Amino acid sequence: MPNSSEESPATLDTGSIVRRKRDGHVLTGAEIAHIARGAADDSIDDAQLSAFLMGTFLRGMDSAEVQALTQAMRNSGVQLDLRRPADGSAPHPTVDKHSTGGVGDKTSFLVAPIAAAAGLRVPMLSGRALGHTGGTLDKLETIPGYRTTLSPAEIRMVLDQAGCSIVGQSADIVPADRRLYALRDHIGAVESPYLICASIMSKKLAAGLDALVLDVKTGSGAFLPDPAVSRFLARLMVEIGEASGTRTAAVLTDMSQPLGRFSGNSVEILEALALLRGERNRNSDDLRELSLLLAGWMLFLAGVSGTAQEGRARAESLLADGSALRRFEQMVALQGGNLAALDHKPAQQRVLHASRSGFVFSMDTTSIGWAVQGLGAGRTQLGEPVSAHAGIELHAKLGGQIRAGDPLCTLFADDANRFPVPESMIADAIVIADAPPRPIPLVHEVLTRDSLTQTPSLQD
Ligand code: URA
Repeated sequence: MPNSSEESPATLDTGSIVRRKRDGHVLTGAEIAHIARGAADDSIDDAQLSAFLMGTFLRGMDSAEVQALTQAMRNSGVQLDLRRPADGSAPHPTVDKHSTGGVGDKTSFLVAPIAAAAGLRVPMLSGRALGHTGGTLDKLETIPGYRTTLSPAEIRMVLDQAGCSIVGQSADIVPADRRLYALRDHIGAVESPYLICASIMSKKLAAGLDALVLDVKTGSGAFLPDPAVSRFLARLMVEIGEASGTRTAAVLTDMSQPLGRFSGNSVEILEALALLRGERNRNSDDLRELSLLLAGWMLFLAGVSGTAQEGRARAESLLADGSALRRFEQMVALQGGNLAALDHKPAQQRVLHASRSGFVFSMDTTSIGWAVQGLGAGRTQLGEPVSAHAGIELHAKLGGQIRAGDPLCTLFADDANRFPVPESMIADAIVIADAPPRPIPLVHEVLTRDSLTQTPSLQD
């Protein structure tokens, strides 16, 4: 990529910035700040922003440019500081976990209350269903009364009492991302490690965190399925987080199959609640293990455990003794939710049976995610309501042995007309073979600041 600071224009002209990115030049911090400002205050139109985004998608950025974009986006709106309780007493270590997006990923409902039970503050600003992946807020809103829109004062009150608050991001946090993200979605420029990094990290850093654990998905259900690209993203995010003074670790985790037993909306809350209550199911073991591991890293980075392994052990005891369940119940009640009224009574269900005997060999998890969205768990248009009860239960996970005619997956929907397309998508997505697949580890690698000795490169 040509480096041409001598070609930097004297004045900031959007057209020339777009052309310079198109031609592969390295942009200056001032040029990138100009773009982020123009996205937030609408002074740059959609056509030029889209051209900038596609130029970045195709040409990439160096880490200084990604850092400049992240900071400029973060500075485009309000910055929160939720470390200090409302009574003005000493700040508490404040920590979050963020996933790059997966299917059946409900670890937030476990890690937030576990970390809260360990004495940390967890302001978890979450999102809605995106592409083939489910939305944390959509799942939580299936709890009757649960409010996902709170003022900063209300979030602080929930944090003071429950230690964790899972809420939506208000309109004034990182307004530049709202516009840039919608354009990326529209023009086909979501799957860029540079743009994903700036989008996620700008929002996380605006929330004023001491520590951040990133769950970077890789495999057939991830936005970036290629392990080399997900690893590159993980390193970039650790680099940007650490450079901003937030202790950051990225855990590269497997998304070759949906996480846990259920994917959908209310079914995912109920699966997490079962684990919080100490109930075990073999098909939820991956979810339990990943949640404990992520919570362990949160405890370690926030300084309450000496190592991530000690953190994991502490997390397991906070799960086993019911402390995490109590924190979750407190959070839900403080945000207006009535857990006792949460149920799973789908109007329609249909069982998909295995077409042959053998072992579950592989899954096209993105396709399964789209099928779950097609059952009604996601939306086709912004603002559309989602179905509380839509979702699936997987009866077999990768490597599981199955006989012809055994139940493979149960589908839930409000309307039986929803079934045909998702049913055939899932039937095609799950491959049964004579031999089991090679076991895939749930966690591929953990990247921390100690992993940043070399410049990140997609060739690594
Ligand atoms: N989640 C985000 O917030 N931004 C992205 O770009 C991708 C996932």
